Formats: sequence, structure tokens, C-alpha cells
Amino acid sequence: MRRPGGSKKTVTILGAGLAGTETALRLAEKGYFVLLHEMRPLCSSGAHKTAFMSELVCSNSLKSLNPQTPHGLLKEELLKTGSPVIESAMEARIPGGGALVVDRDAFARRLTDQVLSHPRIRVEHGVVDRLPSDRPLVIATGPLTHPSLVEDLNRHLPGGRLSFYDAIAPIVEADSLDFGLMFRGDRHGEPGRGDHWNSPMSRETYERFCEALLWGERVPPHEGVEDNPEVLRAFQACQPVESLVETGRQTLAFGPLRPVGLPDPATGREPFAVVQLRPEDAGETAFNLVGFQTRLRYPEQERIFRMIPGLGRARFLRHGSLHRNTFLDAPALLKADLTLAGLPGVYATGQILGVEGYTESVAMGFLTALVLDAAWSSDNPWLFDPRAVLPPAETAMGALLSGLAPRRSGAFSPVNLHFGLFPGPSGPSARRIQREQIVARARRAFSGWWTARDAGDSRRVGVGG
Ligand SMILES: Cc1cc2nc3c(=O)[nH]c(=O)nc-3n(C[C@H](O)[C@H](O)[C@H](O)COP(=O)(O)OP(=O)(O)OC[C@H]3O[C@@H](n4cnc5c(N)ncnc54)[C@H](O)[C@@H]3O)c2cc1C
Repeated sequence: MRRPGGSKKTVTILGAGLAGTETALRLAEKGYFVLLHEMRPLCSSGAHKTAFMSELVCSNSLKSLNPQTPHGLLKEELLKTGSPVIESAMEARIPGGGALVVDRDAFARRLTDQVLSHPRIRVEHGVVDRLPSDRPLVIATGPLTHPSLVEDLNRHLPGGRLSFYDAIAPIVEADSLDFGLMFRGDRHGEPGRGDHWNSPMSRETYERFCEALLWGERVPPHEGVEDNPEVLRAFQACQPVESLVETGRQTLAFGPLRPVGLPDPATGREPFAVVQLRPEDAGETAFNLVGFQTRLRYPEQERIFRMIPGLGRARFLRHGSLHRNTFLDAPALLKADLTLAGLPGVYATGQILGVEGYTESVAMGFLTALVLDAAWSSDNPWLFDPRAVLPPAETAMGALLSGLAPRRSGAFSPVNLHFGLFPGPSGPSARRIQREQIVARARRAFSGWWTARDAGDSRRVGVGG
């Protein structure tokens, strides 16, 4: 797929955010010509305030640098691959304890300069409102993709595969729960069997819980993003748990916490209310609180949700949220070579693909560049097998990718990297998340993978390094 004379194809990228910038710089360094479309400054997303590429729309922290945490591990991996975005963050670092906190303008300006001065990148400003026919094509338009492109994407991906907002419930670590206070069972299923764990609430516990929800401190809507009537209408369809309580003290007991079909084996009777916990992975190392999408602040979520029986000492792997977010149903759409089903040669990356968070978006930008380069340098990109190219599931990047894989049950919600996504150990302690073991294994797996790439088949692989 090289052009006569050895130069590579032109790659069209939509969106010069965190993921689009990472992909563009990586591919340009590999010899591709990149046509990068960006709507700013001609049109704003509502959250972006500058004309810079890779603008951080909210916090200026890229979270922990400690490699004993999933985010630290992910950044360590990205730095080893020579990530231009994470390297720029390190250059723009300001004091922030163990976190990678940056001077946001210095960070974005540095990346903008790199893109604009690159001889193989051409930037075109303006809203892309239809999917271009160029291939390869990378969609990196992020959580606030322009509505006209959303409309066109919906035409290409029928069946509700593109969501407009996301409602995330918290995930708690199995090892931190007291299962003695819960019972196993699915609604109307055989008591003592099934996929869910159920936390029964007496009337008194339920009322105290509702009171706490009512008064819990909430995250205000992002100005210009979540306060417009269209978004507010969308949010009506999926209300935060604390807003449901506002509509009536019994709403939860007749809604997500209804006990119908869930008799407690200890009493033989249905409790007053039941919180259901659904496993997040086959090893049951983590559980999702069913129906608990929320806009409570993170510390408030921990304080209030620990009132649920069995969750008194719960550790939160992910907190709940509800916000404007355009994202694809990755488990249904993402093919092994990271192209979209039904759209050959079209890649989606960053947050629109279904990850959530700055570093996760950058990591997807890297993986897209890696696979795209390998495919379009091969004899036949349409029949390319990506297995030899992608990092193993034990690494942080591999764990992130596995969060986008087809799921056993439940609707897909965007993925931030957490320990529950790493493959669990087998054996008697399978339910425990063994952090030190996971980190040590991830570092070994990453070194093995990266060294093999460096030493081995440089013809087949080669973005970064
Ligand atoms: C309000 C808000 C706050 C957030 N806060 C945080 C936070 O504090 N921490 C965190 O880790 N994550 C946060 N996120 C989530 C996420 O990590 C960031 O949004 C991140 O920037 C996603 O990277 P991206 O490259 O996928 O998208 P973006 O960085 O948003 O880049 C997408 C780019 O595409 C452009 N674009 C969109 N549509 C078109 C079009 N049709 N034509 C041309 N260009 C287009 C946009 O202008 C933008 O530059 C937040 C998200 C939102 C919406």
C-alpha cells in the first residue's frame, strides 16, 4: 500500500484533540501524510476555550504517575513508546504531588507547534459534517463531536450504536464487600443462584439512605455543554439516582431498588428495597451498582453508597457520572483490527470509541496509529491480522482494550482504566484483585512485548520507539 517512490498513503484524521494529535504525530513520524481536520477555532464545542490542539477541557491533571496504579502504569507504558502527548505533558508539568498536573496552555501550545511544524501534516479548519470517503480514515472527534457529524454517523451506523450522553454507575471491588450481608439471586430466578448479588434494605435503612441522597453534594452541569435544552431532554431519559429521590421518597423502592422477585433466603420474604450488584468480569473481582448513575461528587458517592448493607468498606474502582458524551457501542462495532464493522478502512479512536479520560484517549490514539501503520504497511490492509501487533491483555493498554471487547451482559458504558479490567489470577484467591501481582505482571508483559517489537520484525510493526 505504499505509493510509488516509497512514500506512504495519506491518512485523514477528524479531530485534533488528545487522541487525534497522538495518532497524527505518530503516523507522520512513520512517513504517512496526514490531513488533520479540526473545527476549532471556527466552531466551538462549548467546552473548549482555545484554538490549541489537545486542549484539556476541564481538569489540568492527567491523574497519577505512580506505576503501582492503573493510570500510572498506562502513562509509564505510553512514555516507553515515546508518546508525543504524554511527553509534552511531562515537559509542561507543574507541581501536583504524585499526579501529572500540567500548565494547560504550555502543554497544548507545545503540541500545536509540533503539529503545525510537521512537514507531513496539513491542518484544515472547519466542521466536518459528513464522513469523508478517504481511506484510511480516523474519527477522533471526541465526546463533544459536532452534531452534524453525529447525524451523519448515525446514518452509517444504524441501530442506536452511537450514544449522545453517558450514564455511568459506580464499580466497587469485590474484595472490599461483605457478602455475608447480601444474597445471591436474579430477579424471579432460583434463590441462591444467578449472576447478581443483592443487598437487602429495611425500611429504616432505605429512608436514611434516601435522606442522604437528597442532601448529597452534586457536580454542577458543565457550562455550555450540559445546560442546553437538548442535553437536558436527553438526561430526562436516564435520571441520576439522587434526582429520582426528589420525585418521591418511594421512587427508588418502586424503581431500581424494587425488591419484587428477590426474596431474601435468610427470611424467605422480599425486603423493603434491594440494591443489585452485577459482576463486571468473569472472575467477579468487581461489581457494578445497577441503576446508580449519579451526579454526586466522588467523596459524596463513597460516603453515601457505603450506607448500603455490605458496602460499609467498599473500595471504588470507578465512580458514577452522568454527562454529555458522544460514544460508539465499541463491543458491537469494534473489529479486532480496530476498524469499525461495516466501515472498512475507518478507525475510531479516543473518547468517541468508548474510553473515558485524558490518558485513556491518548492510549487509544497510540494503539490506532500502531495498528493502522501495521495494516497499511502490509500487503493487504483489508485482510490484516492484528494479533501479533497489539499489546497483550496483561499490560495496561491491553487491559483498556479488553474493556471494549464484547460483553457477557449489561449495556456498554464507557471505560476508564481500573484494576478490574486486568485479567484476574486463577485459583482459590481468584476474587481478590492482587494489585502488586497485576502491576508486576503488566510490567513484565509490556517489556516483553516492546522488546520483541524492537528486536524483531521491524518490517511488520513500528509506530513509536
Ligand atoms: C466537559 C468535559 C469535561 C471533561 N473533563 C475531564 C477531566 O477532567 N479529566 C479527564 O481525564 N477527562 C475528562 N473528560 C473526558 C475526556 O477525557 C476528554 O474529553 C478528552 O479530551 C477526550 O479526548 P479526545 O481526543 O477523544 O477528544 P477531544 O480532546 O475532545 O478532541 C476532539 C476534537 O475534535 C474536534 N471536533 C469535534 N467534532 C468535529 C467535527 N465534526 N469536525 C472537525 N472537528 C471536530 C473538537 O473540536 C476537538 O478538538 C471531559 C470531557 C468533557 C466533555
